[in-house]
Amino acid sequence: MNVSTQPQEPSRGRSSESFWGNERARRVLRGSDAIAYDTAPTEIARKCPALRLGSLDPADASVLQSASLARRRIEQTRPQSHNVGNRKRTQRFVPASTHTSSMRPIRSVLMLLQCVRSLTTFPAHAYAKELNAAVQAVRRAAKITTKLQRDLANVESATKDDASPVTVADVAAQCVVIDALSQLFPDDGFVAEESAADLLERGEKRCVEAAADAAGFSVEQLCSIVDTRRPDAKRWWVLDPIDGTKGFMRGAQYCTALSLIDVYEGDYEREAVVGVLGCPNLERDGSLGGGSDGDGVVVAAARGAGCFATPYDTDDWTPLATNPRSTWTDGLLIEGVAASHSDHGASERAARTLNLKSEPVRLDSQAKHALLAGGRGDLFTRLPRPGYVERVWDFAAAKVVVEEAGGAITDLKGRPIDVGLGTYLDASVEGIVASGAPALHSEALAAVNAGLAAKD
Ligand code: AMP
Ligand code: MG
Repeated sequence: MNVSTQPQEPSRGRSSESFWGNERARRVLRGSDAIAYDTAPTEIARKCPALRLGSLDPADASVLQSASLARRRIEQTRPQSHNVGNRKRTQRFVPASTHTSSMRPIRSVLMLLQCVRSLTTFPAHAYAKELNAAVQAVRRAAKITTKLQRDLANVESATKDDASPVTVADVAAQCVVIDALSQLFPDDGFVAEESAADLLERGEKRCVEAAADAAGFSVEQLCSIVDTRRPDAKRWWVLDPIDGTKGFMRGAQYCTALSLIDVYEGDYEREAVVGVLGCPNLERDGSLGGGSDGDGVVVAAARGAGCFATPYDTDDWTPLATNPRSTWTDGLLIEGVAASHSDHGASERAARTLNLKSEPVRLDSQAKHALLAGGRGDLFTRLPRPGYVERVWDFAAAKVVVEEAGGAITDLKGRPIDVGLGTYLDASVEGIVASGAPALHSEALAAVNAGLAAKD
């Protein structure tokens, strides 16, 4: 990943082609085949969320989205080795596999220059305040979770109704994230994984007391904050305070996954508009490292603004982009560790069909999507047992991150994931597939569905 210290300077007076490009990028990003080459600038301006939401004039909005656009253009022209925080520049450039016919050479060079300038701050966008708050909240959570993960033997845990584990760290992290967001956005609601009331009902008072202690609140304060929901709110935050609790308890990967759901013109009435994955155990270069010794990376995305990563301790934002591969051959599969959460046999069959590398990368949590977004893997599969209904906090942040990094994420039928329904995804969602290269997504879906239908 390329890094420079120069912040991007918005320029004015962009041509209508910039709008065309932004809309096109947004559609490529969603994995849609229906790219609107001839969409009129006025129509694009109407659809552009940054414009619709207010304060930006069209010229600004065009520029604000240009980092994401430039990156996607460049994606078409290079074999990336996108690593979070990798400061080496990609030296080798090859012709694009798709969409190159419309790229005039001069534009390509300009886009390239724009791309390599990179950022130290997240580019401005309509949800800048929310994204910044989410990143700070996730950082606050990591202060607690990293400390507790270093002392796992003394971390109180309990088992929930669905037999999944919950620890003091889950509850404490949920508390500080909701507390931080509630102070800034008192009207927003929350859809969050943990419930202090449920824990108390199950007789897990010690767990709640230890969480209050870790979060720095009284037990009463913690219970009230953790269970804040505001179900009538117009927009809401989706939070998994420790996604991958099993990984956390093994001293391995986990993440704090946070996403804002708001009204948005897209496939559904509401959409995840901001997504943050705080991954304290990922290395800065996007590799897995040795469990809890990772440097820590925060990956964040906002609709139309792109996907970026920064270390935990400083704001040093670098763009992330998925691998723009033209074939699945030698691609890398990323899946969960827990075989009970995803059918490893079916994904192995799909991997054989697609000629992927023989060994998948397995890790807990949506840190998988951070890797996919940074080009550290190519295909994500999650194939739960029949009848399991997915929870929204396992996919809302991932959806924005993957799509804004240039990938596609859908259910097994190829439908976009509706993350605006509340706690659960639609019960007809039987599994989730994400591809770094949207053009290859339908091939992946066919292989995964065939892998599920077949038995070795
Ligand atoms: P992963 O780390 O990818 O295995 O996903 C962790 C998430 O799996 C947790 O946050 C749970 O919400 C979810 N989960 C719990 N039980 C199941 C299950 N039986 N099948 C699929 N996902 C599950
Ligand atoms: Mg989870």
